[in-house]
Amino acid sequence: MDKFTDSFRHQGLRKKLVKLLREKGIKDEKVLAAIESFPRHIFFDEAFLEHAYQDKAFPIGEGQTISQPYTVAVQTSLLNIKKGDKVLEIGTGSGYQACILYLMGAKVYSIEYNKNLFNKTRMLINSLNYDIKLFYGDGSKGLPGFAPYDKIVVTAATPGTPSVLLEQLNVNGILVAPVGNEHVQAMKQYIKQADGSYSEKDFGQYKFVPLLGAHGWRN
Ligand code: SAM
Repeated sequence: MDKFTDSFRHQGLRKKLVKLLREKGIKDEKVLAAIESFPRHIFFDEAFLEHAYQDKAFPIGEGQTISQPYTVAVQTSLLNIKKGDKVLEIGTGSGYQACILYLMGAKVYSIEYNKNLFNKTRMLINSLNYDIKLFYGDGSKGLPGFAPYDKIVVTAATPGTPSVLLEQLNVNGILVAPVGNEHVQAMKQYIKQADGSYSEKDFGQYKFVPLLGAHGWRN
């Protein structure tokens, strides 16, 4: 049995995880269906398979983490994904959130700043044959060459209003980002209005690894 095998045991553990996410308040059925269908354990070394379906973040090397399933579910729900949405993810990390977005029918662009992680994740996503466009570079600047996007999600702690990213959104587009200091961030949902202004709402406190780069904390 290799790590790509999706056993009944894995499927059972995912059902339990989805039940827990419902109890914690996740309501978007498309998000829950994607989490239930996708084998998160492929991102874990075999020695750590037990951790794959616990609702917690986990180290993936290079000092980085695969986000907690609840956090992925909250961010993805706030994006209100529709089939065909063009989505930019800043911080590919393991690739888990990119896969969830892809399975929900989004056209996914994802950018990662850590070269080793980028290479590792690219190999894994290639082996899944998912059409996710992966980029290596400083995502704090967005990915202007492919803008505008219907949705943008930042999966690292953002120092202030991400104006550069908001500029790369379509009208009525949604940006979700954890904004705050390096210790605690508010999950913000911005919606771009027709006149170019933005509405802004807060959805609880989180702790993410810092966004690096030109518009992040440091290089
Ligand atoms: N979305 C990921 C997943 O599903 O596994 C989790 C991402 S992890 C919490 C944050 C990621 O942001 C790290 O992989 C980190 O290297 C990356 N990162 C930090 N600053 C970045 C930047 N300026 N551009 C792109 N990625 C960045």
